[in-house]
Amino acid sequence: MAGKIDAKNLVDIKKEMMTCTMCGFCKSVCPAFEDIGWDPGVARGRVILSYGLMQGEIPADESVVEALYQCTTCKDCERRCPSKVKVVDVVERARRDIVASGTMLPSHRKVVDNILKYGNPYAEKRSVPEVFGETPRQAKLGYFVGCTSAYRNPSAAKATISIMKKLGEDYTLLDESCCGSVMERVGWNEEDVVAQMRKNVDAIAAQGVEEVIFSCAGCYRMFKEEYPKHVDVPFKVRHVSEYLASKDLKPSRLEKKLTYHDPCHLGRHSKVYKAPREVLAKIPGAEFKEMPRNSETSRCCGGGGGVRSAFPDLSGQIAGKRVDEAKFADVLVTTCPFCVSNLKLGKESSKAKVEIVDLVELIEPLL
Ligand code: SF4
Ligand code: SF4
Repeated sequence: MAGKIDAKNLVDIKKEMMTCTMCGFCKSVCPAFEDIGWDPGVARGRVILSYGLMQGEIPADESVVEALYQCTTCKDCERRCPSKVKVVDVVERARRDIVASGTMLPSHRKVVDNILKYGNPYAEKRSVPEVFGETPRQAKLGYFVGCTSAYRNPSAAKATISIMKKLGEDYTLLDESCCGSVMERVGWNEEDVVAQMRKNVDAIAAQGVEEVIFSCAGCYRMFKEEYPKHVDVPFKVRHVSEYLASKDLKPSRLEKKLTYHDPCHLGRHSKVYKAPREVLAKIPGAEFKEMPRNSETSRCCGGGGGVRSAFPDLSGQIAGKRVDEAKFADVLVTTCPFCVSNLKLGKESSKAKVEIVDLVELIEPLL
């Protein structure tokens, strides 16, 4: 582990860190703190540690690195914070400085190495369109599948493709590479993240695509919120829930109690709350009820920010508590492959009997 580090990314947001009044309101919402139980595991602790790193007052030792990497980047502390401290920005800059100093958690190192070598975190050699037996071509509507949906959990991607076929869309899969989200979340250098952005934007533009649909909340957030900060994005981006909400769908009946989990990347980060609920409201017979914490106040599933790969026990405990909150429902619907797989992991430690599915998997058989 590194000693004192050159915190050149943190220096730029010194004022942000000094804005924290140490009020502790973030303790009431931080999903990681609920399990960790002491200050380094909550927003204000992470802000203090980052400030200490920047001032050269503390080393980036194992305990500091662990605290900064146990943040799921869910942003709930920012919503709750009376001083509006940009905690996720602080945490991600601290991570970037730690990585630049030569320290990286082994699971994150492997993921980044795979992306740089294979274009995806799983060291898969097949392209995304090949996985689905398709060839990228010229079309106005493109579907960006995302690495996890393509290589590890393809049911949501298959459902999305089937929906587009049922709706008669002239769509194409894309000559896509990793969106760069995981690299950015774990603190890899900006140059390589922007290179991934350029690669994707150039490939998509070369296919003449005017609108791209995403079924992964993390990929969508990258294209909507992060890409425009670094590259020109010459096409419209929409999450599949927004796309479906805009369609005149006539699904068949489903006599079930449904609830919805807002992925942090789609909700608090991208402000898409209404569209998935509008899609669920189109299903006749379905009874929809919100979980107590929903929309802006939705609880994180525990899978984001690189926590799932580096701290699977913590991630699973957070997920289990989120699944417990849905115990009144027959089906817990969400809109992100990471949330689906992490909530399924959490279900193993939960007493709730609820089924967990992606929105596209729920609606596809009904169309
Ligand atoms: S709520 Fe905001 S100001 Fe208060 S301790 Fe947490 S980060 Fe600091
Ligand atoms: S972003 Fe989420 S996990 Fe990270 S400190 Fe804030 S509330 Fe906790």
